[in-house]
Formats: sequence, C-alpha cells, structure tokens
Amino acid sequence: MADYQELLGKQRSFFASGQTRDLAFRKESLKRLKREIVQQEEAIMAALHADLNKSPFEGYATEIGMVLAEITHTVKHLDQWARHKRVKTPITHFGSKGYIYAEPYGVALIIAPWNYPFNLALAPLIAALAAGNCAILKPSELAPHTAGMLAGLIRAVFPEEYVAVVEGGVEASTALLANRFDYIFFTGGVQVGKIVMKAAADFLTPVTLELGGKSPCIVHGDADLKLAAKRIVWGKCLNAGQTCVAPDYVLVERRAMPELIAQLKARLDMVYGSGAAESSTFPKIINRRHFERVAAYLQDGEVLYGGKTNEAALTIEPTLVGDVDWESPVMQDEIFGPILPILAYDRLDEAISCINSRPKPLALYLFSQSDAIADKVLAETSFGGGCLNDTMMHMATPYLPFGGVGESGMGGYHGEAGFALFSHQKSVLKQTTLFDLPFRYATTKDALKRI
Ligand code: NAD
Repeated sequence: MADYQELLGKQRSFFASGQTRDLAFRKESLKRLKREIVQQEEAIMAALHADLNKSPFEGYATEIGMVLAEITHTVKHLDQWARHKRVKTPITHFGSKGYIYAEPYGVALIIAPWNYPFNLALAPLIAALAAGNCAILKPSELAPHTAGMLAGLIRAVFPEEYVAVVEGGVEASTALLANRFDYIFFTGGVQVGKIVMKAAADFLTPVTLELGGKSPCIVHGDADLKLAAKRIVWGKCLNAGQTCVAPDYVLVERRAMPELIAQLKARLDMVYGSGAAESSTFPKIINRRHFERVAAYLQDGEVLYGGKTNEAALTIEPTLVGDVDWESPVMQDEIFGPILPILAYDRLDEAISCINSRPKPLALYLFSQSDAIADKVLAETSFGGGCLNDTMMHMATPYLPFGGVGESGMGGYHGEAGFALFSHQKSVLKQTTLFDLPFRYATTKDALKRI
C-alpha cells in the first residue's frame, strides 16, 4: 500500500510557512484555478463525456459552470467572510471585548464520488483553499478520465505541497485515511461514509459527510401538475438520475395521480421521445455493476412509460413505474438511475409518516399551491435541504448551505457555509488592563472583603 506520509509532511511544512494565511494568496490561487479551468474546458467536457456520456451542455451547466460560479462568488466575498467578527460580552465581562477568528484547520483530505466527478471534487476544494488550508484530493476511480484530467489540471496550477491529487480506488483512500488529517470532507455513499468516519475517529479529525439516500417528491392534489411534471422530469433525468438530490420517488395525492402520470409522460415524450437509451447525449450508467443494479428495478411493479435498456451502451431510458409499495425492492435503497416509482397517498399525514419512518433524506421536494400544506410539510419532516415547487435548484445557489442530516450526512457547504466549514472558529476574549473587577476572585462572602 502506498504511503502518503511524505506528501502529508510536505503539505504540513507548506501550511506552517504561513503562505496560505494571506488572503491575497488564497484569492490569487483561486483565480489561477479558474483560468486553468477555462483554458481546459474542452478537455474537461471530453473527460465527462468519456466517463458518463454527458453532453457538452449538461457538462457545462452542472459541472464546469457551477465550479466557475463558486470561484467567482468566493473570490468576491472572501475578505468579508475572513474578517474576524466582534461579538457582545455579558455584563460579567465588563471592560473586555469578544472576537471570533476564522482559522484554517491545516491539511484537508477531500474524497469525491463519480457522479459529478468534476464539480464534487472541486467545489469542496474551493472552500478548503478559501479558508486557507492545504488539500489532498482523491477523485473517484469510477470516473477515470475525469480523475486523470483533474490530476493534470491541479498539477498545472498548484505545487503538490499546497494541493495534490491522489488517484486510485479503495486502496488509495484507505492508505490516505491511515494518516492524521486536520479535516476530512467525504462525498459518497452511506456505507463508505461510516468507514471514513471510523478512520477519522482514530485521530479525532472533524469530518463532513455528504451522503445520499431516497429523496421524496410529494405532489399534493392542488399543485400545478404540468409544471410539476416538467420540473420532476428535469430533476430525475439530469445525469440519468445519478444525482444525490434527484427526486428518488414521487408521492402523489391519489386524486391527482392519473393527471400527473399523463403530464409526466407528455413531458418525457417531448424531451426524449423514445430514443433516450440510444441517444449519444443521454448520460450512461457509470458501469456494468450499477447498470445491472438499476435495470433490475424494472422487474418491480408495472412499467408505465419507458423501460428500454441498452446493455452495450449502459443506458436506461427514463422510466415511470407504478403499482409499487413501500416493501418493493425499488423502494428499499437509493435508485441512482432514471427510474421513477410513483406511489399514491390519500391523506398527507400518511405520506409524512411514511417519510418519517425512514432515514432522513438528503432532499425533499413538495409541489403544492398552499402555504398551509408547505408549512405543515416543513414543520413535520426533517431533511438536508429541498425546494417548494421545484427540484434540485436549492443546491445551485451559494447562499444556501448544502448538506444532509442523519443518514444523509452532516455539515453543509457552498458559499460562505463552505468557508465556515473548513475554518475553525477561534474564540478570543480581549481583556482590559485599565481596571480589575474583584467579584470573580471571591470564593466566599468573607473573601470578598479581603480582595
Ligand atoms: P462511494 O461511497 O462508493 O465512493 C465515494 C468515494 O469513496 C470514492 O472516491 C471511492 O474511491 C471512495 N471509497 C470507496 N470505497 C471506500 C472504502 N472502503 N474506504 C475508503 N474510501 C472508499 O460513492 P459513489 O458510488 O462514488 O457515489 C454515489 C453515492 O454518493 C450515492 O449514495 C450518492 O447519493 C452519494 N452522493 C452524495 C452527494 C452529496 O453531496 N451529498 C453527492 C454525490 C453523491
């Protein structure tokens, strides 16, 4: 097994040199990264196409464009985020002032998944560097073209003592995790998340876990069903459903079910027709193992629309599945593919209690025109983040922290939240020497007289 002690040692020395404390250095580093991404745009698109069959449009919109926007936003606001903050002090601290300093942790490890292999590697890296850390990035071995491209891109911009990419799979991750890091940021599945957290516990290293799960999409009877169908199809089909915040399944009020299904079919027809499985731009399932896993769900319930697969191309066309219940295999694990089970509910309470009896989801979506329904769902369910009358868009704004809760993860990033995540909040009380209040020295009433 490779030993990464030497690399870590180099990063520790670089961090100790203090260069990353300088805000101008951090901003210049992020700008250099941005310039290199712009220059290598075509190579990045080609890698995303080779790994996932992503079209240039999808590759730009969901990966390159989001990363560039995150850098722009971060560079613009960094001075303000990094300023130490004055806070109040209570009367017992009369004469003193309280401050919070955002301090970089040191060397961060970022372990990334394959589904948005560019975005989910670089978005946390931007936050780590903005906060003044050094970083080692471990991309996913299941997206090897993007992993190789990332290694070259990072090498072109940064010396390895500041930012390094380690390519490889489980072995590389395991070898990295055998070392002491100052922060670990992991994006991936729940089972591996547990392994990462256990490894971090050996060194008491703080972790962020960005995990997955089954994200529900509730469609109440009063929703604008045509618009709901449009936004659900978009959220489910982007990256062929291989998105951590994709609507995993739909829970629709029974009276609206026939119309919603009709609208979903009409929308799928309009966007994909019957050719998605043969399309040169519809993303493929990442590998054969996942293709077989997702395709097996087509045995469940009744296929209402779609259902075609192309084994050679590893594509599965967008598929609506009805006649499933909570015990069906497709309702047990995160689907992570373009299959959308649709379940009916009669009372909203029933839908809420089904959601609450399962692990807390990463995302939840509600389509309804009623504020009262929205308030009820928001008050009675717990989830990482979500949207009212939309899907997935909450993760594309730097002003909302993005992350999970419970089994879907811990810690939120993007924008200022990402900067805060990769910073230790150091509390400092600056005490006056102009006077010294005697009360706190008293251990008894009598002692007070002697002070
Ligand atoms: P994964 O957990 O299999 O792999 C993620 C990373 O961990 C990869 O770099 C991999 O090499 C590494 N890894 C795998 N096995 C390991 C082990 N035993 N020890 C240490 N490291 C190991 O996840 P994946 O298949 O790449 O991604 C899919 C999952 O990620 C889905 O569950 C999805 O919901 C979740 N996800 C979450 C988010 C989010 O932001 N919350 C984003 C994307 C994906």
